[in-house]
Amino acid sequence: MRDLHPERALRLLHQSGSGLPVGGRCGYRSPVIDLHTHSTVSDGGETPEQVVEMAFGAGLSAVALTDHDRLDGVGPARRRASELGVELVAGCELSCEHEGTMHVLVYFLEPGEGPLQDELVRLQAARDNRNERMVARLAELGLPVTYDEMVEEAGGMGMGRPHVAGILVRKGVVGSVQEAFDTWLAKGRPAYQPKERLDPPTALRLARSSGATPVLAHPRSIGQEGVELERTIRELAGHGLDGLEAIYGRYSDDERDGVARLARRLGLVVTGGSDYHGSYKPDLSVGTGRGDLAVPDTALVALKERAAAPR
Ligand code: AMP
Ligand code: ZN
Ligand code: FE
Ligand code: FE
Repeated sequence: MRDLHPERALRLLHQSGSGLPVGGRCGYRSPVIDLHTHSTVSDGGETPEQVVEMAFGAGLSAVALTDHDRLDGVGPARRRASELGVELVAGCELSCEHEGTMHVLVYFLEPGEGPLQDELVRLQAARDNRNERMVARLAELGLPVTYDEMVEEAGGMGMGRPHVAGILVRKGVVGSVQEAFDTWLAKGRPAYQPKERLDPPTALRLARSSGATPVLAHPRSIGQEGVELERTIRELAGHGLDGLEAIYGRYSDDERDGVARLARRLGLVVTGGSDYHGSYKPDLSVGTGRGDLAVPDTALVALKERAAAPR
C-alpha cells in the first residue's frame, strides 16, 4: 500500500474485511460508530469536516453531528463524509426544561424547513438573548469577557458557555474549562443565566412531526435514579422518545449497563456517543471517548428500524 494516499489506504483496509479490528478494545467486533459530536457550528473545537475526518481516522463507519440547536454543519460534514466513505447522520441536540439537565438528541433531522427546524431558529434567538445577559453579568462580576471576544472564540455561530470558559482559560482567570463551569458558569453559579428551553413533550412532538428520531442524551444528567428515573423516562417514551444514550463517553461500564437495562425494560433503543467537543472537553476523542468507548453500528441499525416503524 506504499503508493496509496493514506486516506485511501485506510478506506481499503476498512472495506477489505481483512479481519483487522476496526476501533474498539479487542478482537473482531462489528464496526464502531459515534452518535454524539459537536463542531464549530456550536461549541466544538473543530469544523464539521474535521470532525468527520477524525471519525474516519478512528475507523468509524458512521458519525452523527449533533450541534446544539443548529443544523448548519450537516451539509459540509456530509460532503466530507461521502468523500471518505463514512456515513453522516444528521442531527442536533436540544436543551429541555427540567430541574436537572435534560438534553435530547434528534437524529435524521435534515436542514431546511419543518416544525422543529423552524423552532430551532427561535431557540437560536433565545440563545443570543441569553448570551447578551451573560456577558452583562460577567462584566458585573468583573470578569474580562466581551461579546466581541465571544463571537471571535465561537467563530461567529452557536455561541455558548464553553466559549466563555475558553476565554477565561486563555486569560488565565481559571485553569480549565471545567473550573470555569464549577466556579462561574454552571447552573447555580454566579454567572449562570437561564435560557428559554423547550418543554420535553413539545421537543419530542416537534422532532417526531419533522420526521426525526429523538433520543435522551446522557440520561443520568437529569439527576434522578431508580424508580424516579424510570417514571420520568416512561413518561418521555409516552411523548415519543425513541432511545436512551446509554453508551456515553463519560459513563462507567456500570452506568452504561444500568441505562441500557432501563432502555430495554421500556422498549427503547440503546444508542451511544462520545459528546466530543475538541478542546472544550479535552478528555474525549471521537469514537473512543476516554479510551473505553465502542458504540456498535447495530445501534444505528436499530435506530433506523425504529424510525421506519409505523408510529
Ligand atoms: P450552553 O448551551 O451555552 O448553555 O452550554 C452547554 C454546554 O456547556 C454543553 O456542551 C455542556 O456540556 C457544557 N456544560 C454545561 N454544564 C456544564 C458543567 N457543569 N460542567 C462542564 N460543562 C458543562
Ligand atoms: Zn456543547
Ligand atoms: Fe448534552
Ligand atoms: Fe452534547
